[in-house]
Amino acid sequence: MSDLTAPDIELAAVEVIREVLTHQRRLRDGGCTGRVCLRCVRYHLDAVRGTMESGRRVEFVLPAFPTKSPNPAKVLGTLPDLAEELALRFLNTLCERIAEIYPPGAVIRICSDGRVFNDLLGVRDEDVSGYAEGINALIGRIGGPHLEQFTLDDVYRGAGHQDMRAMLSAGYAPSLEELREEVRAGGAPLSMYRGITRFMLEDLSGPSWTGTRSALQRRCRDLAYQVIQRSRAWGRLLDELFPTAVRLSIHPQPCATDKIGILLADTPDAWLTPWHGVAVETPGGYTLMKRAEAEEAGAQPVYTAGRATHYVLERADDAPTRSETGNRSRA
Ligand SMILES: [Zn+2]
Repeated sequence: MSDLTAPDIELAAVEVIREVLTHQRRLRDGGCTGRVCLRCVRYHLDAVRGTMESGRRVEFVLPAFPTKSPNPAKVLGTLPDLAEELALRFLNTLCERIAEIYPPGAVIRICSDGRVFNDLLGVRDEDVSGYAEGINALIGRIGGPHLEQFTLDDVYRGAGHQDMRAMLSAGYAPSLEELREEVRAGGAPLSMYRGITRFMLEDLSGPSWTGTRSALQRRCRDLAYQVIQRSRAWGRLLDELFPTAVRLSIHPQPCATDKIGILLADTPDAWLTPWHGVAVETPGGYTLMKRAEAEEAGAQPVYTAGRATHYVLERADDAPTRSETGNRSRA
């Protein structure tokens, strides 16, 4: 970009950030205003402009794509499927649009956090490895050179999986007391804690749980704190490894803070992530649903090479609203 003047670079940097913020996942009452939040643009401007002045790619770090939920009522299996593919295509397109504004382009480094906390979810390390390999294969097919994957296995090469997690926690995790205090104070930490507790309840409340409901709730609240503790450790390590990258998050974030909450699809209300659901093709386009909800709505599985990859729902009016779910027959 050496042929560009400083004002040119400034304008291009603003446009790059605006492109990202078009897909911002916002915290309710988080303080963002307008279709694209100008306070958030300003907050990230120096970092992005600095990268662009040096002519490097704009670098994003996104902890995401951990592993499939262990709950078979939500997903099709342990491997990435069309749900992941659609999200990766979406992120790839975002990078392509940035490359139109700024030719060196951008890279979104997907920092899979599956290995960071799979033991807490009851997911086997082999399944984390299989999922990560599947993500790499998808990136190879659609995302090169804009998407890359980085995992805990890349940090502690050759170490045992349990040892990797122990080293990460010992080096980077905040104390549980610190986290409890943050959650008690409300805002983004509280909403993240509630969201993770809800997912844990969904994932662990299957037939294998033999205790009482209140004991399960206690267990899930406890596990949620440990998931956040490990995620936080992973985030700190990534900050150290990629200090000039812009941090993205799949969780909504308050206005003008270090992380930008990002959607994984063009729909503003998409809360379900690819690893907690299945892709459903409807006459209005693709959407994500929990597997059981898709099947109750009459969606039919689609197979590629003998493996179900997603569902098709023939009529748009078959798509269930939350209150209707469960009343639909298998048409
Ligand atoms: Zn904002």
